[in-house]
Amino acid sequence: MSIAANNPALTSWIEVQPNSDFPIQNLPFGIFKTAQLTPRVGSRVGDFVIDLKSLFVLGYLENLPFEMGDFDTSSLNNLMKKGKKGTRDLRNRLSKLMESGHDDLQKNEHHVDQVLIAADQVEMLLPVEIGDYTDFYSSREHATNVGTMFRDPNNALLPNWLWIPVGYHGRASSVIVSGVDVHRPMGQTRPNPNENPVFGPSQRVDFELEMAFVTYDGKPLGDRISTGEAEDYIFGMCLFNDWSARDIQTWEYVPLGPFLAKNFASSVSPWIVTLDALEPYRVDGPAQDPKVLSYLEYEGQKSYDIQLEVAIEPEGVEEATICRSNFKYMYWTMVQQLAHHTVNGCNVRCGDLMGSGTISGPTPDSYGSMLELAWKGEKPLKMKDGSERKFIKDNDTVIMRGFATNGEVRIGFGEVRSKLLPAK
Ligand code: CA
Repeated sequence: MSIAANNPALTSWIEVQPNSDFPIQNLPFGIFKTAQLTPRVGSRVGDFVIDLKSLFVLGYLENLPFEMGDFDTSSLNNLMKKGKKGTRDLRNRLSKLMESGHDDLQKNEHHVDQVLIAADQVEMLLPVEIGDYTDFYSSREHATNVGTMFRDPNNALLPNWLWIPVGYHGRASSVIVSGVDVHRPMGQTRPNPNENPVFGPSQRVDFELEMAFVTYDGKPLGDRISTGEAEDYIFGMCLFNDWSARDIQTWEYVPLGPFLAKNFASSVSPWIVTLDALEPYRVDGPAQDPKVLSYLEYEGQKSYDIQLEVAIEPEGVEEATICRSNFKYMYWTMVQQLAHHTVNGCNVRCGDLMGSGTISGPTPDSYGSMLELAWKGEKPLKMKDGSERKFIKDNDTVIMRGFATNGEVRIGFGEVRSKLLPAK
């Protein structure tokens, strides 16, 4: 498939640094506001945010299936309601307007002043009004590490794991955008298995390095989405820190699974990078053995080569990168996750968020959580000031970044950054 906006030869009349996450081939979507401007839809090139409401008002988005309310709004949901064709056409139009050699916008200096806003002047908001949030558990390395630590190294994967993209229904209300601080959760734990549980602040707050995808409207209740159709229902992806309280989790998760250990906060990066923009970075998913059931089979390259990293920045101390992983390590692909999610007739809706599950790679420095990196606290990590971390301390900031590159064009996600404040 050829998408005009992905042409690697394109350059923009807006200056873009070579290491920028936002070349003209990216054109992600998000929601922003400024001291003067109400929340609205934006895109981004280099260090500038593009005000799509102003572009619409000035007539640059004519002959597209959009109206004022699709841009003059505090979520991307209206825009996503237009489906893959609508958002693809919109991104192609933005590309034309920002491309070197096309001066329709560039020649109108007073329009340019109105439409482009320095990125450091805007506040990015939660991009999507999330209806339902589902979290998968699709990294074989992560599931193996957790099974090794807590059950049996010889039978680390539970019997269903290689057959089912395991997942659970999470909580949409506590999904927050990068920059919003998180309080250490209070809860019930049982530090000593021979004594009664206790109540207090979690002692084992962790991050989970994940990515998430956002859906268009799916099919009606009762219908299923096949692996072949799944990409038509996926708008784009973001970085996702699925905050977790390991001590609360250990005590509460039997028999129904994650609850308060997981629902106190999950942080997303503000820019949704479209699946279209990630097209050049497709790679094969891992070989799947045993052969999956027929409804989970798929053809073609359905994984993506997206480099990921996590850093911890203690208060007043330079950040330390503690993990480098890659989205391509995921055992189950997004098309399999969506096919599985709907195989029983469960409907997905515009604005649903699907987390990948913690993305751990094969080597110890690629593990996607503190639980694994510090191996239950047995191998503490060193910060730049010499202090050690087994889990996240109060006033630590956790930063996740991600980008795809093929040597020609680098498409990035920006970052998701959030600080852990003391318990309330
Ligand atoms: Ca998770």
